[in-house]
Amino acid sequence: MSNYQLGLEFAKEQDRNDELSLFRTQFHMPKDKNGNELIYMTGNSLGLQPKLTKDYINQELEDWAKLGVEGHTDGRHPWLNYHEYLTDTMAEIVGAKPIEVVVMNSLTTNLHLMMVSFYKPTSKRYKILIEADAFPSDKYAVESQLRHHGYDDNDGLILWKSREGEELANYDDLENLLKVHGNEIALIMIGGVNYYTGQFFDLKRITNLGHSHGCVVGFDCAHGAGNVQLNLHDSGADFAVWCSYKYLNSGPGSLSGAFVHERHAHRKDLNRFTGWWSHNKDTRFKMRDEFDQLPGAEGWQLSNPPILSMAAIRASLDVFKQAGFQKLCEKSRRLTSYFEFLINTLNNSDIKIITPHHPEERGCQLSIQVKNADKSLHHKLTEAGVISDWREPDVIRCAPVPLYNSFEDVYKLVERLKKILN
Ligand SMILES: *Cc1c(COP(=O)(O)O)cnc(C)c1O
Repeated sequence: MSNYQLGLEFAKEQDRNDELSLFRTQFHMPKDKNGNELIYMTGNSLGLQPKLTKDYINQELEDWAKLGVEGHTDGRHPWLNYHEYLTDTMAEIVGAKPIEVVVMNSLTTNLHLMMVSFYKPTSKRYKILIEADAFPSDKYAVESQLRHHGYDDNDGLILWKSREGEELANYDDLENLLKVHGNEIALIMIGGVNYYTGQFFDLKRITNLGHSHGCVVGFDCAHGAGNVQLNLHDSGADFAVWCSYKYLNSGPGSLSGAFVHERHAHRKDLNRFTGWWSHNKDTRFKMRDEFDQLPGAEGWQLSNPPILSMAAIRASLDVFKQAGFQKLCEKSRRLTSYFEFLINTLNNSDIKIITPHHPEERGCQLSIQVKNADKSLHHKLTEAGVISDWREPDVIRCAPVPLYNSFEDVYKLVERLKKILN
């Protein structure tokens, strides 16, 4: 920490030394009414639009206009295989093999599709374990799966809660929960990076623990994909899902990614929901064949996908490829540690960072807890030109994103916060 300094000049120097600083110019930065750039700190919620995106989408609109249905085979990027153009880069970002990854549907939909295959309750082992402050959609999804299989969702849901007076989940508590309930738990489904606290869980540790008790383990990595190195393959997780509109900058409501570990790629015994896009590509259009399952994550697709949304994902992934994800993660650590340093020098007891201090246990987001849940602080920040978000009951989330946020952004944000707090 001690290698950070106060003052604007230090921030500017960091930006001058940052080989990724020019990537900011590849994005549209939102502005206020007077045309001044806002300080955008909500890439954890909706990533900014790469300037490439419009061109990529326009290409598909043009091909559609010129070629009609023939665009499936004769377009510049034939639509039939469009999802394949995304696979390698997406796999690299989440630390998976290409056969383990597919982009399809939206996030909660994919979570359900994964649970169709990987939540196999029996009368003895039917419970689902999630973290206590899981993202609401995930909680609703697992509760509805319990009910779908005829279980009571109060009885069937086990919560991994943080301790009284603490914000972060503790692994000892997870171990104890599994010691007591391990043989009743069919599925452990955790948010890889918690949306509220920004805590990045040790996916491998949780997976090993779950597997040692005979549980299936899956993760929702919506706040991890494009933010931290997930190493999904090495984690050994059975499945994972994530969206592409947060750190992956692919536009509101854009498609989701799904990971299924390689060891399940050729299994025929897994129950899946299927459609023509789960069927062998070579014979898909013969239309009358017996169903022939595609191996790997692709085999979970149902429908021919929305090309316009996938064009936006392709544009975004091309920007990631140019920057290099490893380098982005390194910058992210410096940027967020600098942010933490500045907040701590404010020395103000009205605010407290609840995100873990260790860089391995967080991504770029810092969650700032506000004393007495004083929401007006967030309101004033917004008026001061900082886009952050408020999450009930008492947290402001700020995520300096290494692709388009600068050290100067972070500096200005904290200066404005300081003024408001005083
Ligand atoms: C953002 C987010 C969602 C949103 O789900 P959609 O299906 O994309 O609307 C769900 N779960 C988590 C953990 C998220 O972070």
